[in-house]
Amino acid sequence: MFKLRAGISVLLTKVSPSLNVVRNSSVRAFSVSPVICKRTTPILYNPLPSTEAERVNGKQKIKNIEPYSREKSPLTSLLNKNAKWSEDVHTSDPTFFSRSAQKQSPNILWIGCSDSRVSAEQIVGAGPGELFVHRNIANLCIHTDLNCLSVIQYAVDVLKIEHIIVCGHYGCGGINAAMHPEPLGLIDNWLVKIKDVYAANKEKFEGINDQKSREDLLAELNVGDTVQSICHTAIVQQAWKRGQKVSVHGWMYEVEDGLINELGWCVSSSEQLESVYVYENPRPLKHQRHKNIESKE
Ligand SMILES: [Zn+2]
Repeated sequence: MFKLRAGISVLLTKVSPSLNVVRNSSVRAFSVSPVICKRTTPILYNPLPSTEAERVNGKQKIKNIEPYSREKSPLTSLLNKNAKWSEDVHTSDPTFFSRSAQKQSPNILWIGCSDSRVSAEQIVGAGPGELFVHRNIANLCIHTDLNCLSVIQYAVDVLKIEHIIVCGHYGCGGINAAMHPEPLGLIDNWLVKIKDVYAANKEKFEGINDQKSREDLLAELNVGDTVQSICHTAIVQQAWKRGQKVSVHGWMYEVEDGLINELGWCVSSSEQLESVYVYENPRPLKHQRHKNIESKE
């Protein structure tokens, strides 16, 4: 971590002289309290002006900011809870952070909703290092979303995770919004994927008049759609092709009692997919491009 931070600070100094690297700043808004952690982390980059001249000349990129003490931070309670948590972990497991700093090797990729009530680690009792997490509104996997695809690719190809859990939840605001006609702005473009799921499964909603039941059914179907969408990526199919074990699971979290409902979606091979989605011999795009160029020549 220290090497990474140092690297970033060197880079910042080179590309932008207006950015100021401060090694002994009096402003330590992001450091753990020295009372709790004896080895304080040096602040390598401080966005605040370090001298009066810099402040007057307006060299900082963010204007009109003044240093304030930790006690006056609007997020003091969070910072204090963090310090307490760090202290507790130090006490119960003195080598935890030194081990954690070495590397991460999670075995599970979690794709869940951004909803503040569905905190991935908390609801399954996992600690730092156990889950590789991606969250977005209504836990979608859209094949033009480079963010989600990059997370899946890194998790599968580099971290070699064995399980991908798609966890939706009952009472999902994204599902609710997708079922109502009022426009909400930019997010409507994101939610249209959920409308597609509804339209493709319209007959399953016949006879269900209660709105909450309809939304909960759509939330479950949406998890199933995301499971399939992940399996339809060449990333996952390449992993299966080379013999790597990857299983994609569908879960639903109930916000009313905190329990998880396993939907029975568990896909572990291309044989479980609709044939039109199966790549005969999935390979990285650069290889395909190379092959095309050769064939033209
Ligand atoms: Zn949600």
